[in-house]
Amino acid sequence: MTAAIIDGKGFAATLRERVAALVPAFEATAGRKPGLTVVIVGEDPASQVYVRSKGKATEAAGMVSTTHRLPDTTTQDDLLALVRQLNADPAVDGILVQLPLPKHLDESEVIATIDPDKDVDGFHVVNAGRLAVGQEGFVPCTPLGCIMLLEDRLGDLSGLNAVVVGRSNIVGKPMAQLLLAKSCTVTVAHSRTKDLPEVCRRADILVAAVGRPEMIKGNWIKPGATVIDVGINRVDNGEGGTKLVGDVDFASAAEVAGAITPVPGGVGPMTIAVLLRNTLVSAYRRENVALGK
Ligand code: NDP
Repeated sequence: MTAAIIDGKGFAATLRERVAALVPAFEATAGRKPGLTVVIVGEDPASQVYVRSKGKATEAAGMVSTTHRLPDTTTQDDLLALVRQLNADPAVDGILVQLPLPKHLDESEVIATIDPDKDVDGFHVVNAGRLAVGQEGFVPCTPLGCIMLLEDRLGDLSGLNAVVVGRSNIVGKPMAQLLLAKSCTVTVAHSRTKDLPEVCRRADILVAAVGRPEMIKGNWIKPGATVIDVGINRVDNGEGGTKLVGDVDFASAAEVAGAITPVPGGVGPMTIAVLLRNTLVSAYRRENVALGK
């Protein structure tokens, strides 16, 4: 193996410590702790796990974590009423509605009802627009975490060729906007892209956000490139159990890349750390407190 391993787990732990270290100064000025409220509807087991770990991490950072658990019989009107109530609550700095919602609920209307200035997930169209035009807002946690890892590894990204494979609203598109804002030359690839291996081979920075286990092979990668693997796929481990793999075939990619994020332990841990960061930033902005670096 030649590639350096990008330690997202370690970076995320440091970011969480930095966030926690800034909470007391906020509390001293504002007279309250920053607050993150998570809304979960229904019993999806994976969502329950995510929500519990977000709650624990929020409390570990010294912030107030509140969780609203609603039954899957909840109506759209009831959910919207709760979101409006949270919008109006001065103790709530961040509102996160755990997705996916049960099928009878309209996700886009729910997200559109969240106050954009409390939308710490960065999914509201106002925040997508702010990102596109370079205004201050909230950026989705996973791609913002990827940019932090890239800048930590490479420093100035300007002029680099970046290829993002995937164009979802929560990962691929905001990732491309962030790389563009850092003056990369950005290509966004997707399921209709012709000759994807050749497109990937042009990348100094390759971001994989596809959701297809180990699709991107070592011979798709430019020697020395920095590879960010967003994918989280659970597959058979060949021994009757399961394991997590990314969208990149780690073994072959690590022979060619200059640096690569592992799965698990790469991008994954960054998402919650950035969520805490966004909540703290929201609290500081809403109380108009200056945020130190
Ligand atoms: P989506 O399913 O929303 O998007 C997948 C994208 O990949 C689409 O744009 C699709 O193209 C593209 N795609 C699918 N198949 C191919 C193919 N064969 N060749 C090229 N492009 C293809 O996924 P997400 O963006 O939500 O997530 C992507 C991955 O990242 C998943 O594994 C997910 O689990 C993981 N993830 C990890 C997070 C974390 O680390 N915390 C957070 C969020 C996601 P098209 O648009 O043409 O259909």
